[in-house]
Amino acid sequence: MDYIDPHIHMISRVTDDYHRMAQCGCAAISEPAFWAGFDRGSVEGFRDYFRHLTEVEPKRAAQFNIKHYSWLCINAKEAENVSLSREVIAMIPEFLNRPGVLGIGEIGLNKNTKNEATIFQEHVDLAMKTDELILIHTPHLEDKYMGTRMIIDMLKGDSRVKPERVLIDHVEEHTVRHALDNGFWCAMTLYPTTKCTPARAADIIEMVGTERIMANSAGDWGKSDPLAVPELIQEMKRRGHPEASIKKLVYDNPLAFWRQSQRWQEWPTESVKAEAPVAKGKKAVAV
Ligand SMILES: [Zn+2]
Repeated sequence: MDYIDPHIHMISRVTDDYHRMAQCGCAAISEPAFWAGFDRGSVEGFRDYFRHLTEVEPKRAAQFNIKHYSWLCINAKEAENVSLSREVIAMIPEFLNRPGVLGIGEIGLNKNTKNEATIFQEHVDLAMKTDELILIHTPHLEDKYMGTRMIIDMLKGDSRVKPERVLIDHVEEHTVRHALDNGFWCAMTLYPTTKCTPARAADIIEMVGTERIMANSAGDWGKSDPLAVPELIQEMKRRGHPEASIKKLVYDNPLAFWRQSQRWQEWPTESVKAEAPVAKGKKAVAV
């Protein structure tokens, strides 16, 4: 089954991972800007990182016919440095019109501090002024419940924010309903041990259904599995979920959310792909 991984940090993965993802049916991914394993020293470090996200990774993904999209921001961990964060936020518009950029993310909270909240709101302000989608990181473990509530309160406090243009990521059993009931999209992050396992994600789907929800692998510097979405597909098949609901979760929903981006370009349909080389009398090319 073709699938989309809407949150994976390919900068931290080897090329063999792209190969294996393609073999498992990965059609497209999106890569949010995040922490690099160390705090960067200047705005130039972020400028180079954004070039990596918008130039290097799309080319690496294309070798395996995987479409690569990205999100731009300074992550919540480095947002503790308010002056650097403001320099990065001022520089982001240089990159917003690049092909494949879907919006602002992953912004959010890490330890739920005042500085993180300030920079979160300044990112939201940028997204509203530039009409961008937003992808949100919610904190881990013991900080998640409080952090998710703080984030949703801040979003609801800004009358410009349309919930259907915001995705709240890393939801778990105790936060998923709060995100959905307030009209946001949400995503479950599948990790082998911490966060949500494929089995727990299948339980959550059985609780809340398949509207405005998706799943991703995060695939980052930590112990993670870039094939976690195919694992969830297997788990749901094993439990007897219909093929159409699995496809909605792992393909139709991420695509429906992404399609709201102002720069979105439709993918050629299967019939166009099949006919084009014949009609033009040219050799088939990968799209
Ligand atoms: Zn992430």
